Amino acid sequence: MKNPFETEERRAFRETIKRYVEAELKPYVDEWDEAGDFPWRVHEELGAMGYFGFGVSEEFGGLGFDDAFMRAAAAEELARCGATGVWAGVGGRGISIGPLENFASAEIRERVLEDIVLGRKGSCLAITEPGGGSDVARMKTTAVRDGDEYIINGSKTFITGAVKGDYFVVGARTGGPGLTGISLFFVEKGTPGFSLTPMDKKMGWWCSDQATLYFDNCRVPAGNLMGEEDRGFIAIMENFNFERLAIAAGALGMMKTCLEESINYAQERETFGKQLIQHQVIRHKIADMSAKVDAIEAYLNQVCWSINESDMPVAEISKLKFSSTKALEFCASEAMQIFGGAGYMRGNPIERIYREVKVFAIGGGSEEIMRDLAVRQMGL
Ligand SMILES: Cc1cc2nc3c(=O)[nH]c(=O)nc-3n(C[C@H](O)[C@H](O)[C@H](O)COP(=O)(O)OP(=O)(O)OC[C@H]3O[C@@H](n4cnc5c(N)ncnc54)[C@H](O)[C@@H]3O)c2cc1C
Repeated sequence: MKNPFETEERRAFRETIKRYVEAELKPYVDEWDEAGDFPWRVHEELGAMGYFGFGVSEEFGGLGFDDAFMRAAAAEELARCGATGVWAGVGGRGISIGPLENFASAEIRERVLEDIVLGRKGSCLAITEPGGGSDVARMKTTAVRDGDEYIINGSKTFITGAVKGDYFVVGARTGGPGLTGISLFFVEKGTPGFSLTPMDKKMGWWCSDQATLYFDNCRVPAGNLMGEEDRGFIAIMENFNFERLAIAAGALGMMKTCLEESINYAQERETFGKQLIQHQVIRHKIADMSAKVDAIEAYLNQVCWSINESDMPVAEISKLKFSSTKALEFCASEAMQIFGGAGYMRGNPIERIYREVKVFAIGGGSEEIMRDLAVRQMGL
């Protein structure tokens, strides 16, 4: 579908990521996903292309500008590589950069941000706890001021990029109960009292790394507080907007893969003496998938326009996120039906997408929480 907001610059950026995905990722992702890992060069190569640079000043390796359309295009094209474990593995870093750029001390930014933005060092964002991820305001990890330090105690789980991470942005309670008592901290790998255990045996995202983090009287300098004490909740919520935009764009990329793979297969495969694509039931599935792709793409573009207009459309981002993951679920299921048994076999792109739907529907704010937030934003 034609995008009325397209510009030469945006088209060129999308093409750069697309060409890279085709040449450097697609041929290898099956092997990487089965191996449960992908090479570090991917972080560095995407970093060099500006994938992590939106909203980051040039002195820290950033692009020096922001553009929601380019953010979305990058996330969509990367999700088309065939294994969104790669998308997630680099995305763990992506969601930590906004808070670091906006809230870390000048000393920390000067020391670490360029290495993170250019993909040389690993970083991640640790909000979710074993006790729950949806209700961020109830987080239990604590950070208590002791002279020139804070002492952190508690645990985080499902943290993407943590196993390979050098730098961690961690949410912790510094004040009383509720959303006004939360702060963000910068924690470095190797800090005494900080440890982690990798999480494996996941349904999808095999080549990405997740871990459970443990803080046992972990002392960090007071200067590692990011932003104002007790004001972290707002920073976390603002950061979610871009994470959710990227998830919606990633879901769109996967939907397009479902559609294209289905069309190709339905033209090759014959049943009952004719091409699968000639059966009306299959043609209607293709029409329905195509209409959902168009609808999500148009919605995504409209939301990108609003973001660029400096009007962070929280309700629309929430609605876009759950609409896109519901649409992805539909497309993955219909594509699987079109492929029949072949779609059930490992190595088929639809088999992997089908397994990866749910992490898009749950991560970064589940469908239920997104609906709830959208309705609250409507003043209800
Ligand atoms: C592979 C993977 C990678 C992840 N990476 C990260 C990461 O890098 N950093 C990070 O901080 N987190 C990460 N997460 C965590 C993710 O964001 C959470 O899983 C998600 O926010 C949901 O939290 P939860 O799993 O604790 O579910 P819970 O909060 O326990 O909720 C359980 C279920 O109940 C529903 N629910 C909860 N409250 C309500 C309600 N009020 N009304 C109706 N339904 C409700 C939820 O929608 C959910 O379906 C990751 C998760 C996964 C699986």
